[in-house]
Amino acid sequence: MPHKVTLIPGDGIGREVSLAALRCIEATGVDIKWEEVFAGTEAFDKTGEILPQAVLDSIRKNKVALKGPITTPIGTGFRSVNVAIRQALELFACVRPVKSYAGIKSRFNDIDLVIIRENSEDLYMGIEFEQGKPETKALIAQIEKDTKKNIRPDSGISIKPISKFATDRIARFAFEYALKNRRKKVTCVHKANIMKFTDGLFLKITREVAREFDGRIIFEEAIVDNMAMQLVVKPHKYDVLLLPNLYGDIISDLCAGLVGGLGVAPGANIGTDSAVFEAVHGSAPKYKGQNKVNPMAMILSGALMLRYIKEVAAAEKLENAIKEVVAEGKSLTYDLKADPLDPTVVGTKEMADAIIKKIRH
Ligand code: NAD
Repeated sequence: MPHKVTLIPGDGIGREVSLAALRCIEATGVDIKWEEVFAGTEAFDKTGEILPQAVLDSIRKNKVALKGPITTPIGTGFRSVNVAIRQALELFACVRPVKSYAGIKSRFNDIDLVIIRENSEDLYMGIEFEQGKPETKALIAQIEKDTKKNIRPDSGISIKPISKFATDRIARFAFEYALKNRRKKVTCVHKANIMKFTDGLFLKITREVAREFDGRIIFEEAIVDNMAMQLVVKPHKYDVLLLPNLYGDIISDLCAGLVGGLGVAPGANIGTDSAVFEAVHGSAPKYKGQNKVNPMAMILSGALMLRYIKEVAAAEKLENAIKEVVAEGKSLTYDLKADPLDPTVVGTKEMADAIIKKIRH
């Protein structure tokens, strides 16, 4: 019986990297029946909706999806489709392995850490009050009454809910992940010194969960600004990082930068019933259709997906093929070369071709 997997190609560079990942996954010989569905502007043009019900239905049915990045307009227009999918399916855990590969120029070698980002709440819930609207003025008046603090009347407001329930769920996920994957330490990243009732709660609940794993997993705490500095100075100190949604987003990009950039950073969004696998990077619209960007993050996301559907041998084949191609240093996209204008730079498709050749070798 083939595995059934939903494929959301995405937009911008999404199509190119998704196609590269799909070809590499198929080369492993694993039996997958893909169900292609569309979200974002592409879906809007076809159906008038940015996140058609068919997309969610398909993921719910198949329980697993591979997704290319989707563009989100900044400031105005719809909120992120990417975030909407995670929320609609309760994909509460975002797992992003950060790993050094021999052959990739980067500031550090031998980094091997994992980011676990809470995916369901925090400022990403999209609860916002627009500047100047009557409901915003009413909220400001209510807050001033309750807190005796002044908010400038021309403010916009975004709400940051962090709950006991969601923190307990993600903290448990992080510690169990650490145990299962033979990791030693979980570091909880927060700003509890300033946001006592949100980050403070996140830290308190995480400490409680940590006690249950005492003697099995080491627990540490770090304030997010210090964490940013520590990571660029001594990233080897860290193992599993557990973060609320916003810090998780920002620190993910920082960590990608430690091991060679966004082109090499894969990710998974995992819920109780289903999972969506996607690169950390976005749709990089300026590179759309140029056969230029690195497909590695998307292909590695495919390898995470293969592990999730218990096709471990296929995942290893894929990961080893990538390792070999990168170590050889011949068929690499511009971002992995010391000089991006190096005449030996290859395109997205050609790097995928080289990986496929290794898989078949
Ligand atoms: P981005 O990740 O798309 O690109 C930032 C820069 O990183 C690019 O200009 C490029 O230099 C580099 N880069 C990214 N992917 C690369 C790759 N595969 N190979 C080589 N270099 C790569 O970030 P952005 O420009 O801030 O966002 C563009 C759009 O993507 C926005 O609309 C944003 O909302 C969206 N986005 C979507 C997702 C998602 O689908 N999960 C994630 C992040 C951003």
